[in-house]
Amino acid sequence: MPDIPFTSRKASVSARITIIGASITGLATACILRRSGHEVLVVEKSDGKYRSPGIIPSPPNMTRVLQRWGLQPYLTKSGMIVDQFRFLEGQSGKTIGVLKLYEELLRDLMADFLLIHHGDLISIFQDLAHREGVEIRYNTAVVKIERVPLTALLENGDVLYSDLVVGADGPLRSISRDAVLLRQIEELPTQHVCFSFSVSLEALQADAELEGICAQRNWNMWLGDGFVIYGACHRASNRYSLCITTEMEGDMTEYQGNWTKQYPVDHFDMKLERFEPRIRKLLKMAEFIIPTCHVYIPEPENLICDLDKVILAGQSAHPTMPDGMHSTAMCIEDVDALDYLLTRIKHIDEIPRVLSAHEELRMERCTHARDWESRKLKMLTLLQGEDRDMRDAKMRCLSECEDMEEKEYAFNDLWGEEVDFYAYDPIEQADNWWSMYGTVISRRPSTTDFSC
Ligand SMILES: Cc1cc2nc3c(=O)[nH]c(=O)nc-3n(C[C@H](O)[C@H](O)[C@H](O)COP(=O)(O)OP(=O)(O)OC[C@H]3O[C@@H](n4cnc5c(N)ncnc54)[C@H](O)[C@@H]3O)c2cc1C
Repeated sequence: MPDIPFTSRKASVSARITIIGASITGLATACILRRSGHEVLVVEKSDGKYRSPGIIPSPPNMTRVLQRWGLQPYLTKSGMIVDQFRFLEGQSGKTIGVLKLYEELLRDLMADFLLIHHGDLISIFQDLAHREGVEIRYNTAVVKIERVPLTALLENGDVLYSDLVVGADGPLRSISRDAVLLRQIEELPTQHVCFSFSVSLEALQADAELEGICAQRNWNMWLGDGFVIYGACHRASNRYSLCITTEMEGDMTEYQGNWTKQYPVDHFDMKLERFEPRIRKLLKMAEFIIPTCHVYIPEPENLICDLDKVILAGQSAHPTMPDGMHSTAMCIEDVDALDYLLTRIKHIDEIPRVLSAHEELRMERCTHARDWESRKLKMLTLLQGEDRDMRDAKMRCLSECEDMEEKEYAFNDLWGEEVDFYAYDPIEQADNWWSMYGTVISRRPSTTDFSC
């Protein structure tokens, strides 16, 4: 257990908060709100023991928040720093170009781009929850949320009363989203599947052909006709982790939202001849593969209910594709902004007003992230043709151009929007909002009856 110098804000009032879901959003919310002085209870339908081997990107905007929460010692142990993205041709394996996250840029951003195992991040927050004295009830599913009085009904018949419910129950069939919207949002199947797998570093380093791909601090991206493959070396676990994103034919329902069930590689017809020889070799070496099929979920139009006592956070609020670079960052930002706003209130009946502020701030940001992720995926998976040639020319310029202006133009054109995401600070945004409207809000008499 690392020794952690915690930073903390304290709330003037302590609210009773029920959190649904103990994955990354739920656990992070519980730890940070508990530390700020709220009474929190987390309910999770699973036993909380599964550790997913998949990789979560933590771009600088997320890393900075985790550092602010005092988690640097954990990150040093479990995170892998990325300081360049290497783009390779999917079929030949030749490098197209290298995009460096220059030291000065990372220094200005005050945080690294990290890759962390999903399972490690869960362990970090479970450890933190334990230190903060958070109560978590595992194997406990919420079956319904009633709004007046505010209650969460559990599968075992228990009823939980609270001042606020945070719905962190994920993208698919979210009970809290149904409660907020008063209807079930349509979840649309897609053919977009991410296949996660990993190979031991020893095996990789023992193979002359493969050894070269595990250079430290590289995040490799193989770009091909309708697919992208992400690969990075994760020294903490001694594995090389990969994720193949591609469209598949046939019925993919079985793999929707799947993060746990493992399959043999040859269970799928991935049309291996599309991939360069090293990828084919890595697939042969993999013991299993985890397929996650993307389900398209339109963004909910509200993140809070009309009585403003239920708030959606993380993936239930902003469902994204499974391999998004910013999916988890948006969850962590949600938590940081929510904590900041809740520490500003002086009375429990001010909760609805700060939740409206949270909704306003987070919807704009997360809609932008979702839009960028889908444009970026299109750019990375372009089919052969003029657009792809133009993209590759810009990528080549990143490594080869002598002219700094041309290089900067290519960098901004390809990755400028991505880098803009790194500079965002949820607290700064919430603070701006508070300095404009906060005093007015805290003086206004409440019209909401909050008695349960
Ligand atoms: C088991 C698991 C493994 C994953 N592995 C990876 C991975 O390897 N790589 C990756 O990129 N992403 C992974 N994800 C997705 C990743 O966690 C999310 O994309 C995001 O980073 C965090 O989202 P979230 O916490 O808002 O929602 P989620 O991670 O989807 O978590 C929602 C949680 O709510 C719980 N829950 C749902 N309904 C109820 C209910 N009615 N009552 C009580 N609890 C409920 C679920 O069991 C789950 O723990 C995984 C998700 C899960 C659930």
